[in-house]
Amino acid sequence: MKAILQDLSFEELSSLVQSAGGKPFRAKQIFEGLMQGKAISELPIPPDLRAFLLETYEDEPVKIKETFVSKDGTKKYLFELADGNLIEGVLMHYDYGNTQCVSTQVGCRMGCKFCASTLNGRIRDLTAGEILGEIAAVNRAEGGTLKERAVTNVVLMGSGEPFDNYENVVKFLRNLTAEGGLHVSARNISLSTCGLVPAMRRFAEEGIPLNLTVSLHAVSDEERRRTMPVANKYKIAEILDACAYYFEKTGRRYIFEYSLIEGENADMVHAEALATLLKGRPCHVNLIRLNPVKERNLKGTDERTAQAFLKALLSRGISATLRRSMGSDIGGACGQLRARYLKGE
Ligand code: SAH
Repeated sequence: MKAILQDLSFEELSSLVQSAGGKPFRAKQIFEGLMQGKAISELPIPPDLRAFLLETYEDEPVKIKETFVSKDGTKKYLFELADGNLIEGVLMHYDYGNTQCVSTQVGCRMGCKFCASTLNGRIRDLTAGEILGEIAAVNRAEGGTLKERAVTNVVLMGSGEPFDNYENVVKFLRNLTAEGGLHVSARNISLSTCGLVPAMRRFAEEGIPLNLTVSLHAVSDEERRRTMPVANKYKIAEILDACAYYFEKTGRRYIFEYSLIEGENADMVHAEALATLLKGRPCHVNLIRLNPVKERNLKGTDERTAQAFLKALLSRGISATLRRSMGSDIGGACGQLRARYLKGE
């Protein structure tokens, strides 16, 4: 695989263009073209500059291979990378705009028992430009431009653990929020982590005040270890401290993901314990009914149990919502589509 031109910041691209003897305005032209989802071969630049770039860089590092449309309008994209690896992303339509969910790794090595992304482990990290390429490609496919974006919000909740690919993810975030590019505001970006505590603390210092989301899914370390191997490494108390530090540094309240799993974490005692754990913290709880994964032996709760759980949190003064499950008819949950592809279905 060649290098990825989309990995470069505007400043890095400017030096590259200069070293190739190109005029300074070409850097802006190339940067904008790439952010619009164009291939190098499509850029309106002189042939010698294009040939120079194509010698070292992939022409189109992220290609949309297939698009699936759910009954509820949610779209699932299967992308092909330059080395043939497949990743997936989702575009969800809300009243306030369109949210794209992106992958940050090919596969994942965190091993959560309920998640399809981790079934075959981690194949490799995505580069900053590949993550950005997912958004640029979808924005273009949806008829968006840099000024009138079709993708208004971004969530790092696809396959992969963003903080297990820290440097590339931070670089991606800097390019995504950069002026002159897609220029997505940090407020419109959510990053979800399974709770890698040192990285959470480090990220608090980066000056990217996005919506930090933590996958909690349990109320005690003991129970969390049953479904999330990462709980052997970091305690819930350490995660809560890191969240408090994030709030202190950024002023942003944080969010907990809590997927309701039948017979595991969805009883009234769990709701009460969760409320006690989070009481008084500047946070929000996103409840999700587990999306059943064929390969895993875990079931989601029924709607009534989920509503009762939500009510129990709300009545104890915890800010919480029950997330609508979208795109379940097209394998909307993390890694489901890729898993299906790998098995040749
Ligand atoms: N690695 C990051 C990013 C994944 S985000 C993280 O762990 O947070 C995707 C969210 O969906 C996480 O909260 C994850 O735990 C959750 N999830 C994974 N598989 C799921 C499933 N089958 N049903 C419901 N939620 C799931």
